[in-house]
Amino acid sequence: MEIVTYFDKVFSLFISKDEINEILNKLALEVNKTYQDVNEDVILVSILDGSFIFMADLVRKLDFEFDIEFVKIRSYEGMESTGDFELLLNLQIEIEGKHILIIEDIVDTGLTIEKFIDKVKEMNPASVKVCSLLSKPEVHNDIINIDFVGREIPPAFVIGYGLDIDGKARNLDGIYQLEI
Ligand code: 5GP
Repeated sequence: MEIVTYFDKVFSLFISKDEINEILNKLALEVNKTYQDVNEDVILVSILDGSFIFMADLVRKLDFEFDIEFVKIRSYEGMESTGDFELLLNLQIEIEGKHILIIEDIVDTGLTIEKFIDKVKEMNPASVKVCSLLSKPEVHNDIINIDFVGREIPPAFVIGYGLDIDGKARNLDGIYQLEI
């Protein structure tokens, strides 16, 4: 499918399924290299809802030992980042002294990830790193240090591969960009 429509808005294919797979392979290589010799526990923390497909695909390409945790944050409504931060599901485990790798679908303004990183740091982990499938550097101006970036994109609204528009379109196997 080259074009999809949701709520009368037209989206065109931007990153294909095959391209996503190449991005995942590149990220997995970098993440595996970084954590292969770490002796303490590593915990991958997926930020729901958007990153659930990315997380599921990425972890199957990783070859070191780690635990998986999920948190749920609400920060976006419709096509706008609200800047509000609401932790709907918190970490269920102790992370003190452990290495945390946050898995995010997309960094837009960077506010969500910035606030979550602060929360995680309060719990005294051994380290905190961020892996994001997509990043909009023109929006966040690199105020956030993203350790592993799948692909940088322009500041357009995207859907698919876990990313939604008002709860829909998460199941698309490619990433689609809003046509203007
Ligand atoms: P930020 O706080 O960085 O502005 O926004 C982070 C969250 O907003 C992401 O985790 C994601 O859920 C949502 N978001 C940001 N940009 C987009 C986008 O282009 N499309 C969709 N569907 N969600 C986005």
